[in-house]
Amino acid sequence: MFRNKDLNQLLGGCLTDFKTYARGTYRGFQIIFDLRAVNNAQIFFVTINASAPGLEALSALASFLESQKAGSKHFHGFSCYEHFIELELTSPAMPKKIPAIFNGIIDPVVQYITMQSFTPGCQNCGDSTMPLDCYQINNAHQMLCENCSREVEARLEDNKAAVKSQKSSLIPGLVGALLGALIGAAVWIGIYKLGYIAGIAGAITVICAMKGYEMFGRALDVKGVIISVLISVVMIYFANNISWAWDVYDELKPYGYSFTDTYRGLHDIIVKAEALPYFYRDLGIGYFLTLICSVGTIINALRNSSGSYKMKKAK
Ligand SMILES: [Zn+2]
Repeated sequence: MFRNKDLNQLLGGCLTDFKTYARGTYRGFQIIFDLRAVNNAQIFFVTINASAPGLEALSALASFLESQKAGSKHFHGFSCYEHFIELELTSPAMPKKIPAIFNGIIDPVVQYITMQSFTPGCQNCGDSTMPLDCYQINNAHQMLCENCSREVEARLEDNKAAVKSQKSSLIPGLVGALLGALIGAAVWIGIYKLGYIAGIAGAITVICAMKGYEMFGRALDVKGVIISVLISVVMIYFANNISWAWDVYDELKPYGYSFTDTYRGLHDIIVKAEALPYFYRDLGIGYFLTLICSVGTIINALRNSSGSYKMKKAK
Protein backbone atom coordinates (compact mmCIF):
# COMPACT_ATOMS: atom_id res chain seq x y z
CA MET A 1 0.00 0.00 0.00
CA PHE A 2 2.84 2.39 0.87
CA ARG A 3 6.44 2.57 -0.27
CA ASN A 4 8.85 1.44 2.47
CA LYS A 5 10.48 4.83 2.63
CA ASP A 6 7.11 6.52 3.16
CA LEU A 7 5.99 3.91 5.68
CA ASN A 8 8.93 4.79 7.93
CA GLN A 9 7.93 8.44 7.96
CA LEU A 10 4.19 7.92 8.32
CA LEU A 11 2.95 8.35 11.91
CA GLY A 12 6.40 7.78 13.34
CA GLY A 13 6.80 4.50 11.45
CA CYS A 14 4.17 2.73 13.57
CA LEU A 15 2.32 1.11 10.65
CA THR A 16 2.67 -2.42 9.34
CA ASP A 17 1.79 -2.70 5.66
CA PHE A 18 -0.31 -5.78 4.81
CA LYS A 19 -0.53 -4.85 1.08
CA THR A 20 -4.34 -4.50 1.01
CA TYR A 21 -4.35 -2.44 4.20
CA ALA A 22 -1.99 -1.04 6.82
CA ARG A 23 -2.38 -0.62 10.54
CA GLY A 24 -0.53 0.18 13.73
CA THR A 25 -0.78 1.66 17.21
CA TYR A 26 -0.16 5.38 17.29
CA ARG A 27 -0.15 7.17 20.68
CA GLY A 28 -2.34 4.42 22.07
CA PHE A 29 -4.89 4.40 19.24
CA GLN A 30 -5.23 1.77 16.52
CA ILE A 31 -4.95 3.44 13.13
CA ILE A 32 -6.08 1.48 10.06
CA PHE A 33 -5.57 2.50 6.42
CA ASP A 34 -7.91 1.01 3.81
CA LEU A 35 -7.69 2.03 0.16
CA ARG A 36 -11.00 1.98 -1.68
CA ALA A 37 -12.31 3.36 -4.96
CA VAL A 38 -15.18 5.81 -4.63
CA ASN A 39 -16.66 7.06 -7.91
CA ASN A 40 -13.47 6.04 -9.72
CA ALA A 41 -11.25 7.98 -7.28
CA GLN A 42 -8.87 6.17 -4.91
CA ILE A 43 -9.55 7.22 -1.33
CA PHE A 44 -7.56 6.31 1.79
CA PHE A 45 -10.01 5.51 4.59
CA VAL A 46 -8.28 6.03 7.92
CA THR A 47 -10.02 4.50 10.92
CA ILE A 48 -9.13 5.50 14.49
CA ASN A 49 -10.67 3.43 17.30
CA ALA A 50 -11.53 6.35 19.56
CA SER A 51 -14.53 6.35 21.89
CA ALA A 52 -16.05 9.73 22.70
CA PRO A 53 -16.44 10.49 26.42
CA GLY A 54 -19.92 11.85 25.65
CA LEU A 55 -22.23 13.06 22.90
CA GLU A 56 -21.13 16.65 23.38
CA ALA A 57 -17.53 15.66 22.82
CA LEU A 58 -18.61 13.87 19.65
CA SER A 59 -20.26 16.95 18.13
CA ALA A 60 -17.31 19.12 19.20
CA LEU A 61 -15.05 16.64 17.39
CA ALA A 62 -17.18 16.97 14.26
CA SER A 63 -16.79 20.75 14.20
CA PHE A 64 -13.07 20.41 14.88
CA LEU A 65 -12.72 18.00 11.93
CA GLU A 66 -14.82 20.31 9.74
CA SER A 67 -12.38 23.16 10.34
CA GLN A 68 -9.38 20.85 9.80
CA LYS A 69 -10.90 19.65 6.54
CA ALA A 70 -11.19 23.20 5.27
CA GLY A 71 -7.43 23.56 5.76
CA SER A 72 -6.25 20.73 3.50
CA LYS A 73 -7.36 19.76 0.00
CA HIS A 74 -6.28 16.18 0.68
CA PHE A 75 -8.66 15.95 3.64
CA HIS A 76 -11.60 14.70 1.60
CA GLY A 77 -14.16 13.88 4.26
CA PHE A 78 -14.83 12.27 7.64
CA SER A 79 -17.42 10.44 9.71
CA CYS A 80 -17.66 10.41 13.49
CA TYR A 81 -19.17 7.46 15.27
CA GLU A 82 -19.58 6.76 18.97
CA HIS A 83 -16.58 4.43 19.05
CA PHE A 84 -14.49 5.32 16.02
CA ILE A 85 -13.55 8.07 13.61
CA GLU A 86 -13.17 7.61 9.87
CA LEU A 87 -11.13 10.08 7.82
CA GLU A 88 -11.10 10.09 4.03
CA LEU A 89 -7.81 11.23 2.53
CA THR A 90 -6.79 11.62 -1.08
CA SER A 91 -3.26 10.92 -2.24
CA PRO A 92 -1.15 13.82 -3.55
CA ALA A 93 -0.01 13.51 -7.18
CA MET A 94 3.55 12.86 -5.92
CA PRO A 95 3.53 9.79 -3.64
CA LYS A 96 6.64 11.00 -1.78
CA LYS A 97 4.52 13.79 -0.32
CA ILE A 98 2.19 11.25 1.34
CA PRO A 99 3.93 11.13 4.77
CA ALA A 100 4.08 14.90 5.24
CA ILE A 101 0.50 15.46 4.08
CA PHE A 102 -1.07 12.51 5.92
CA ASN A 103 0.86 13.25 9.14
CA GLY A 104 -0.24 16.86 8.83
CA ILE A 105 -3.87 15.74 8.82
CA ILE A 106 -3.83 12.81 11.27
CA ASP A 107 -1.46 14.20 13.93
CA PRO A 108 -3.69 17.10 14.99
CA VAL A 109 -6.69 14.76 15.12
CA VAL A 110 -4.93 12.31 17.44
CA GLN A 111 -3.66 15.21 19.51
CA TYR A 112 -7.20 16.59 19.77
CA ILE A 113 -8.82 13.31 20.81
CA THR A 114 -6.09 12.71 23.40
CA MET A 115 -6.67 16.16 24.88
CA GLN A 116 -10.44 15.60 24.90
CA SER A 117 -10.07 12.27 26.76
CA PHE A 118 -11.24 9.98 23.94
CA THR A 119 -10.28 6.38 24.71
CA PRO A 120 -9.10 3.62 22.39
CA GLY A 121 -11.28 0.48 22.37
CA CYS A 122 -13.53 -1.84 20.41
CA GLN A 123 -15.08 -0.06 17.42
CA ASN A 124 -18.48 -1.56 18.15
CA CYS A 125 -18.84 -1.28 21.94
CA GLY A 126 -15.95 0.97 22.95
CA ASP A 127 -14.71 -1.49 25.58
CA SER A 128 -11.02 -1.03 26.30
CA THR A 129 -10.50 -3.90 28.72
CA MET A 130 -10.96 -6.82 26.28
CA PRO A 131 -8.28 -7.79 23.78
CA LEU A 132 -9.04 -6.52 20.27
CA ASP A 133 -8.56 -8.26 16.95
CA CYS A 134 -8.52 -6.82 13.47
CA TYR A 135 -11.33 -8.12 11.25
CA GLN A 136 -11.75 -7.73 7.54
CA ILE A 137 -15.40 -6.95 6.74
CA ASN A 138 -15.93 -6.76 2.97
CA ASN A 139 -13.23 -4.32 1.86
CA ALA A 140 -12.72 -2.55 5.19
CA HIS A 141 -10.99 -3.40 8.47
CA GLN A 142 -12.21 -2.93 12.04
CA MET A 143 -10.84 -3.49 15.52
CA LEU A 144 -13.36 -5.52 17.49
CA CYS A 145 -13.55 -7.43 20.75
CA GLU A 146 -14.54 -11.07 20.49
CA ASN A 147 -18.16 -10.55 21.58
CA CYS A 148 -18.68 -7.80 19.04
CA SER A 149 -17.11 -9.80 16.23
CA ARG A 150 -19.81 -12.41 16.81
CA GLU A 151 -22.50 -9.74 17.04
CA VAL A 152 -21.37 -8.05 13.82
CA GLU A 153 -21.24 -11.36 11.97
CA ALA A 154 -24.76 -12.24 13.15
CA ARG A 155 -25.97 -8.85 11.90
CA LEU A 156 -24.42 -9.48 8.48
CA GLU A 157 -26.01 -12.92 8.38
CA ASP A 158 -29.46 -11.46 9.20
CA ASN A 159 -29.02 -8.85 6.52
CA LYS A 160 -28.09 -11.54 4.00
CA ALA A 161 -31.26 -13.47 4.76
CA ALA A 162 -33.36 -10.30 4.46
CA VAL A 163 -31.80 -9.31 1.13
CA LYS A 164 -32.13 -12.83 -0.25
CA SER A 165 -35.86 -12.90 0.50
CA GLN A 166 -36.27 -9.72 -1.55
CA LYS A 167 -37.50 -10.50 -5.07
CA SER A 168 -37.75 -7.97 -7.85
CA SER A 169 -40.56 -7.72 -10.41
CA LEU A 170 -39.07 -8.69 -13.75
CA ILE A 171 -41.16 -6.80 -16.32
CA PRO A 172 -41.22 -3.37 -14.59
CA GLY A 173 -37.53 -3.86 -13.81
CA LEU A 174 -36.83 -4.56 -17.46
CA VAL A 175 -38.61 -1.38 -18.52
CA GLY A 176 -36.65 0.59 -15.91
CA ALA A 177 -33.35 -0.88 -17.07
CA LEU A 178 -34.19 -0.01 -20.70
CA LEU A 179 -35.03 3.58 -19.80
CA GLY A 180 -31.86 3.89 -17.72
CA ALA A 181 -29.70 2.43 -20.48
CA LEU A 182 -31.25 4.89 -22.97
CA ILE A 183 -29.86 7.75 -20.89
CA GLY A 184 -26.42 6.13 -21.03
CA ALA A 185 -26.72 5.60 -24.79
CA ALA A 186 -27.58 9.28 -25.30
CA VAL A 187 -24.46 10.26 -23.33
CA TRP A 188 -22.43 7.81 -25.45
CA ILE A 189 -23.66 9.35 -28.71
CA GLY A 190 -23.09 12.87 -27.38
CA ILE A 191 -19.50 12.11 -26.40
CA TYR A 192 -18.88 10.30 -29.71
CA LYS A 193 -20.07 13.45 -31.50
CA LEU A 194 -17.28 15.30 -29.72
CA GLY A 195 -14.82 12.81 -31.19
CA TYR A 196 -14.28 10.41 -28.28
CA ILE A 197 -15.17 6.91 -27.31
CA ALA A 198 -15.71 7.08 -23.58
CA GLY A 199 -15.76 4.16 -21.21
CA ILE A 200 -17.37 6.47 -18.71
CA ALA A 201 -20.44 6.67 -20.98
CA GLY A 202 -20.55 2.88 -20.98
CA ALA A 203 -20.28 2.84 -17.20
CA ILE A 204 -23.07 5.43 -17.00
CA THR A 205 -25.17 3.12 -19.18
CA VAL A 206 -24.62 0.20 -16.80
CA ILE A 207 -25.23 2.29 -13.66
CA CYS A 208 -28.39 3.92 -15.06
CA ALA A 209 -29.72 0.55 -16.22
CA MET A 210 -29.25 -0.90 -12.71
CA LYS A 211 -30.79 2.20 -11.09
CA GLY A 212 -33.72 1.96 -13.51
CA TYR A 213 -34.19 -1.71 -12.75
CA GLU A 214 -34.14 -1.01 -9.02
CA MET A 215 -36.62 1.89 -9.24
CA PHE A 216 -39.16 0.06 -11.42
CA GLY A 217 -38.58 -3.49 -10.23
CA ARG A 218 -38.50 -2.50 -6.52
CA ALA A 219 -35.19 -4.29 -5.82
CA LEU A 220 -31.90 -4.97 -7.54
CA ASP A 221 -31.37 -8.70 -7.16
CA VAL A 222 -28.83 -10.87 -8.99
CA LYS A 223 -31.28 -11.36 -11.87
CA GLY A 224 -31.65 -7.58 -12.12
CA VAL A 225 -27.89 -7.00 -12.26
CA ILE A 226 -27.46 -9.57 -15.04
CA ILE A 227 -30.38 -8.17 -17.06
CA SER A 228 -29.10 -4.61 -16.64
CA VAL A 229 -25.63 -5.60 -17.87
CA LEU A 230 -27.06 -7.47 -20.89
CA ILE A 231 -29.30 -4.54 -21.81
CA SER A 232 -26.30 -2.21 -21.51
CA VAL A 233 -24.24 -4.40 -23.88
CA VAL A 234 -27.02 -4.28 -26.48
CA MET A 235 -27.62 -0.57 -25.93
CA ILE A 236 -23.93 0.27 -26.40
CA TYR A 237 -24.01 -1.66 -29.69
CA PHE A 238 -26.90 0.50 -30.90
CA ALA A 239 -25.31 3.67 -29.55
CA ASN A 240 -22.19 2.91 -31.58
CA ASN A 241 -24.35 2.18 -34.66
CA ILE A 242 -26.22 5.46 -34.27
CA SER A 243 -22.97 7.37 -33.74
CA TRP A 244 -21.58 5.95 -36.98
CA ALA A 245 -24.85 6.45 -38.89
CA TRP A 246 -24.84 10.06 -37.75
CA ASP A 247 -21.34 10.60 -39.11
CA VAL A 248 -22.31 9.02 -42.45
CA TYR A 249 -25.58 10.93 -42.55
CA ASP A 250 -23.71 14.23 -42.21
CA GLU A 251 -21.84 13.26 -45.42
CA LEU A 252 -24.89 12.02 -47.34
CA LYS A 253 -27.39 14.67 -46.30
CA PRO A 254 -26.60 16.95 -49.29
CA TYR A 255 -27.55 14.08 -51.62
CA GLY A 256 -31.06 13.82 -50.20
CA TYR A 257 -30.62 10.78 -47.92
CA SER A 258 -32.57 10.67 -44.67
CA PHE A 259 -31.16 9.49 -41.34
CA THR A 260 -33.38 6.40 -41.48
CA ASP A 261 -32.03 5.49 -44.95
CA THR A 262 -28.50 5.90 -43.66
CA TYR A 263 -29.12 3.82 -40.54
CA ARG A 264 -30.74 0.99 -42.55
CA GLY A 265 -27.98 0.95 -45.16
CA LEU A 266 -25.17 1.53 -42.63
CA HIS A 267 -23.65 -1.93 -42.86
CA ASP A 268 -23.46 -1.86 -46.70
CA ILE A 269 -22.04 1.64 -46.69
CA ILE A 270 -19.35 0.68 -44.17
CA VAL A 271 -18.43 -2.45 -46.16
CA LYS A 272 -18.22 -0.44 -49.41
CA ALA A 273 -16.05 2.17 -47.74
CA GLU A 274 -13.85 -0.67 -46.40
CA ALA A 275 -14.30 0.78 -42.94
CA LEU A 276 -15.60 -2.37 -41.27
CA PRO A 277 -12.39 -2.90 -39.23
CA TYR A 278 -12.68 0.65 -37.91
CA PHE A 279 -16.32 0.10 -37.00
CA TYR A 280 -15.48 -3.00 -34.98
CA ARG A 281 -12.41 -1.30 -33.53
CA ASP A 282 -14.62 1.49 -32.15
CA LEU A 283 -17.07 -1.04 -30.76
CA GLY A 284 -14.29 -3.16 -29.24
CA ILE A 285 -12.61 -0.16 -27.61
CA GLY A 286 -16.01 0.95 -26.35
CA TYR A 287 -16.76 -2.39 -24.74
CA PHE A 288 -13.27 -2.66 -23.29
CA LEU A 289 -13.38 0.81 -21.71
CA THR A 290 -16.88 0.15 -20.42
CA LEU A 291 -15.66 -3.06 -18.79
CA ILE A 292 -12.76 -1.26 -17.09
CA CYS A 293 -14.98 1.56 -15.84
CA SER A 294 -17.86 -0.56 -14.61
CA VAL A 295 -16.40 -3.85 -13.39
CA GLY A 296 -16.09 -2.57 -9.80
CA THR A 297 -19.67 -1.29 -9.85
CA ILE A 298 -20.97 -4.60 -11.20
CA ILE A 299 -19.11 -6.68 -8.60
CA ASN A 300 -20.40 -4.40 -5.82
CA ALA A 301 -23.95 -4.61 -7.14
CA LEU A 302 -23.75 -8.39 -7.29
CA ARG A 303 -22.45 -8.54 -3.73
CA ASN A 304 -25.15 -6.19 -2.44
CA SER A 305 -27.87 -7.94 -4.42
CA SER A 306 -27.13 -11.31 -2.88
CA GLY A 307 -26.44 -9.86 0.56
CA SER A 308 -23.24 -11.87 0.61
CA TYR A 309 -20.37 -10.56 2.70
CA LYS A 310 -16.83 -11.40 3.61
CA MET A 311 -15.76 -11.33 7.23
CA LYS A 312 -12.62 -12.86 8.63
CA LYS A 313 -9.95 -12.24 11.22
CA ALA A 314 -7.10 -10.30 9.65
CA LYS A 315 -3.46 -10.18 10.67
ZN1 LIG B 1 -16.84 -4.82 21.48
